[in-house]
Amino acid sequence: MKEKLSLIIPCYNEQEVLPLLYAELCKVTEQMAENNFEFLFVDDGSKDKTLEIIKKYAEEDERVKYISFSRNFGKEAAMYAGFCEAEGDYVAVMDADLQDPPSLLPEMLRIIKEEGYDSVATRRVTREGEPKIRSFFARCFYKIINKISEADIVDGARDFRLMKRAMVDSIVRMCEYNRFSKGIFGWIGFKTYWLPFQNVERAAGETKWSFWKLFKYSVEGIINFSQVPLSVASWTGLFFTFMSFIGVAVVFIRRFFFDDPVQGWASLVCFICFIGGIQLFCMGIMGQYLAKTYMEVKGRPIYIIRETNKKRERKNETNE
Ligand code: UDP
Ligand code: MG
Repeated sequence: MKEKLSLIIPCYNEQEVLPLLYAELCKVTEQMAENNFEFLFVDDGSKDKTLEIIKKYAEEDERVKYISFSRNFGKEAAMYAGFCEAEGDYVAVMDADLQDPPSLLPEMLRIIKEEGYDSVATRRVTREGEPKIRSFFARCFYKIINKISEADIVDGARDFRLMKRAMVDSIVRMCEYNRFSKGIFGWIGFKTYWLPFQNVERAAGETKWSFWKLFKYSVEGIINFSQVPLSVASWTGLFFTFMSFIGVAVVFIRRFFFDDPVQGWASLVCFICFIGGIQLFCMGIMGQYLAKTYMEVKGRPIYIIRETNKKRERKNETNE
């Protein structure tokens, strides 16, 4: 029997790029005719013609499956929905904008099959075409998160990867609400081969990530995979307690032995403000963790499906 490859493609307002992507997918899959394919488009609440275009493809091509969300839930939710619904023996996630070249797929599959890896992940070796400041912050982020978390995240890693069924099943079991896939892929382990490639610019349309959104996403990553920020409060607290003993001793000695009470209203105010700032900052960190815990405890669904051509099939199967 032919093995099946599922390609999960999260799409949010991608009407310009979909025809290019679909053409490219058809081309690549022709070269891999020894496999069956499933193109699983996850429409993340697009406001343009994305869903219409996908439906049109689905009418003509039975490999095309789609899941359409009731609103925009974000790329992480879209990828998770894809993992839950994908049927293939191998599953790949790729962006719709051709920044994750589908032409790498044959090589990725070969590595998994012949070299005994569980997954092949991709990594950009250049960041050409990206604003310098963005690259700089991205590098800082990877350095920090690798120092303080147990999820091993490679600099320049993309979400584009091909995985075996066993790995996909373990991702599906990671049903946390606050998702950070790069961390999840690293956390679950498995043997991963890193395939480097040159950065490709978006084929059409616009990026959905502003600098601020990326910043929030990176904070999310750190909070999800590390408890180190929580200990910041303990360590700074300990440090300032120690300093305050010294301070008190100095004041007493000056007062009683040198009869020289400490002057300096200004320095006192500075100090109070400084400590107040640190206290609030630490409370903020705890608040972030609490907020995440709150959302996890609520146990809300990660995504809500409005429309799909997968479920209908399943219903038919059970009716038969
Ligand atoms: N995406 C999504 N939901 C969102 C934002 C983005 O499904 O809320 C998809 C988008 O359609 C694309 C992929 O995630 O397929 C990557 O997005 P984009 O190319 O805008 O990000 P960048 O490559 O600039 O980091
Ligand atoms: Mg992109």
